[in-house]
Amino acid sequence: MVAKQLRARDITDERVLAAFERVPREAFVAPDQVDSAYDDSPLPIGDGQTISQPYIVALTTQALRLAGHEHVLEIGTGSGYAAAILGQLATSVVTIERIGSLATMAAARLAALGHTNVHVHHADGTLGWAPDAPYEAIAVAAGAPRPPRALLEQLAVGGRLVIPFGPHDHQRLVRITRTGASTWTEENLGAVRFVPLVGAHGWPASA
Ligand code: SAH
Repeated sequence: MVAKQLRARDITDERVLAAFERVPREAFVAPDQVDSAYDDSPLPIGDGQTISQPYIVALTTQALRLAGHEHVLEIGTGSGYAAAILGQLATSVVTIERIGSLATMAAARLAALGHTNVHVHHADGTLGWAPDAPYEAIAVAAGAPRPPRALLEQLAVGGRLVIPFGPHDHQRLVRITRTGASTWTEENLGAVRFVPLVGAHGWPASA
């Protein structure tokens, strides 16, 4: 998976590649999906949600430019796989999931695998997670209509937010860097397709 799906494309950060070598994706998929755990695609994890395609997790992670000292926020825990990868590359990770059953499963799985620097909360991630802000890096794993204000505000100056946003069925993956108290810059990382970010500052649950 690392050689064919990541290194052969544009994933060049050796720390990111090493993190993917260390975290077994099969431990984050349902028992009946284990044979597909290393496929180049998203996989169902229950409640209509998916564990993201490995390449997309790698692209997002690489774009965060983690050196190891960062305090990271992830929105959309899902299986916990991307949170585990982020935990290998930063000091601590706070990850937020809106579906209670997924949050509970991910927390148990991450604890069993020894990812003690990853903290799961069941909440609406479109509000960010104020108690631990600011964050040097924020990753959003669901497609937003637009970047939620709380995430822009909870970013440290110099910090990076990687978020897919745009129409419901196709988004652009964008890296937003906070350059000052009230200034942010934006870089386009390409076209992507994520499950919707549902919440107070995301899509309505019925959409
Ligand atoms: N990073 C995950 C991929 C998760 S898919 C992994 O590695 O497995 C996106 C997840 O975002 C889904 O589990 C979905 O329930 C969650 N989600 C959607 N809207 C959310 C919100 N407002 N706050 C927190 N999680 C949300």
